[in-house]
Formats: sequence, structure tokens, C-alpha cells
Amino acid sequence: MAERELTLLKEMDYKNGYSVYIGIPFCPSTCLYCSFTSYSSEKFGNLVDEYLKVLQEEITYAGSCLKDKKLTTVYFGGGTPTTLSAEQLDSLLHHVENTFDFTYVMEYTVEAGRPDSITYEKLKVLKEHRVNRISINPQTMRQKTLDLIGRKHSVEQVVDAFYMARQLGHDNINMDIIIGLPGEDKEDVAHTLREISKLNPDSLTVHTLALKRAARLNTEKADYEDLEPVDTKAMLQLTAEYAKEAGLMPYYLYRQKNMADNLENIGYAKLGKEGLYNILIMEEKQTILALGAGASSKFVFHKENRIERVENVKSLKDYLERSNEMIERKRSFLLENKNNL
Ligand code: SF4
Repeated sequence: MAERELTLLKEMDYKNGYSVYIGIPFCPSTCLYCSFTSYSSEKFGNLVDEYLKVLQEEITYAGSCLKDKKLTTVYFGGGTPTTLSAEQLDSLLHHVENTFDFTYVMEYTVEAGRPDSITYEKLKVLKEHRVNRISINPQTMRQKTLDLIGRKHSVEQVVDAFYMARQLGHDNINMDIIIGLPGEDKEDVAHTLREISKLNPDSLTVHTLALKRAARLNTEKADYEDLEPVDTKAMLQLTAEYAKEAGLMPYYLYRQKNMADNLENIGYAKLGKEGLYNILIMEEKQTILALGAGASSKFVFHKENRIERVENVKSLKDYLERSNEMIERKRSFLLENKNNL
């Protein structure tokens, strides 16, 4: 894995480049285990237009920040970026492309994430904008688990979204699954892997459930106690075997606190379909300008071997009210440090 990472890093001029992360903090509903900045579009949908207006201002500012560096990757995450309408997505992507120089961009990712947010029109917009990597995340292919974890979409929606994306020519599709979901055993994971192998995604990211303090699964722990997963190590082993059979090779790994059995997250991909942004962020190799509510910019000082973070506020309300401050935080940091970057 380390060798593969090194080869990929060598191919990118990562020291003279930077990446951009743009967060869309809305989702169709809130998953039981969620610890990200996420607001259900049902409750907060009326704030999406205002959010996009403020975000576009931050993007405009970010476009002027690192003019002497080459943009390597652009990543839309969240939340679920495809919670936006096709028109909103189109206009946001236009704004990004008009703001940054895309000449050297190697990877342009939009997490389509939740299948219940995906439509033909949105996938078409992404294709037209030459987004070259998307993620359609089932987490599990067991309907009973999807219902339990509040994903509010069906297994069929995952399959339909995947085929729709392929039909439109998306040729780099990642799928995320989670090991250790409440009530799941080894057979459930085997089932999920069998169903995913029929789709043949270009990469598979295997997460081990990490119980973060704020997640409902943690705060409402007592309700799920008898659904504790067993044998997560064996489940992880199954995913490794599946990946090997499917021609997906491991290319990155990271550990977080509070993961079931202290296990890890692993990214598997076909050759040439690795998520470059994932490597850059996990290995902390490149400056990442992160924009939007809850986004945390990371500045890498290669010569001094140090990293500094400049964080945006997490709450949507604060972000909307204090957007100028988010720009100001980056501006003053860069004024002081730009020459050493
Ligand atoms: S899709 Fe992701 S960001 Fe959205 S609620 Fe679920 S876990 Fe959170």
C-alpha cells in the first residue's frame, strides 16, 4: 500500500500544488451514526440558496489565494452535494470552474453519496462539467439495516443510481460501505459484497464504524445495545478477500479514534482509479483550501515540516452570519505565512 501511495504521489507535483474542498452540509435525512456537519434538507432546505450565495463568495476569495500554485484536485463533500438541485449544482460548478485554473486538475470529485439524492439530471450535470470521480454510497445492501440507520433509501435506489451513472459515462465510481453497523453479522457483510460485486465499482472504501460523541448512535446508545456487531475483524477480512477477487487493490488506510475493535478504514481501487484527494488528505501532503460550513483548511509547510489548520465555523447559522470572518481568517493567515508555503 505504501509503495502504491508513493508511486501516485510521485506522479503528482504535490509540493507545488494545492487542492480545494467544498462542503455542502445538507443531506436528505440524518444517518444514525453521522458525526459530520449535516443538516436535513427537509428541515433546513429553505437555507440552501442563502448558503450557496455565501459559499460562492468564499469560493471567489479562495480563487485569489494561491495563484502561484497548481490546483491538483477538487473535492465536493459534505453532507451530500447532490442534495442540491441539478440547476444549483450546475451553477455552483460553473462558478468553481470560472474561479480556479483547472489546467492541471487531475481529479474532480463530487460525492453523490446518498442514492436518494441522485437523479439522471444531476448525474448529467456532473458529466457535462467533466467531474471524473463520483461516489455512490450504499453503506450496506441490507434493507433492514438501511431502515435502522435512517438512510431512508432502498437497495434498489443504490442499484438504479449506479446503472444510471454508468449509462451517462461515469467511469470512476466509488462505493462506501461500513463494517460494524448495528445488528449486522458476517453474513450481512458477505451479502453486501455479493451485491456490490454485481455492480463492479471502480473503487470501494471500507469504513469501520467509528462512534463519535455527537452521533445519535452514541447519544441513544441504550436503544441499540442488543444490536452490537460481532466479529468485525472477520468482516474486514471478507472485504479484503472480495477486493482482491474484484481486482481492487488497497491504496490508502487511516485510523480514527473509537472505531469498532480499533480497526481501520481502507480504500481499494482498480489501477488508475485511486482517489488522489484521499491520499493527499490522509497523508497530509498538500495544502487544502476547505470552503463551506464545518470545513477545515490545512496548510502544509514542506520546508519547515509543519502543518497548520484554519477552521471554518461548524454550524450553518454561524457560517451564514459570519462568512466574512471565514474569509478574513484565511486572508490574515496567508498574509503572515504565504511566503513560506
Ligand atoms: S449521508 Fe453522510 S453526511 Fe449525510 S447524514 Fe448520512 S453520514 Fe451524515
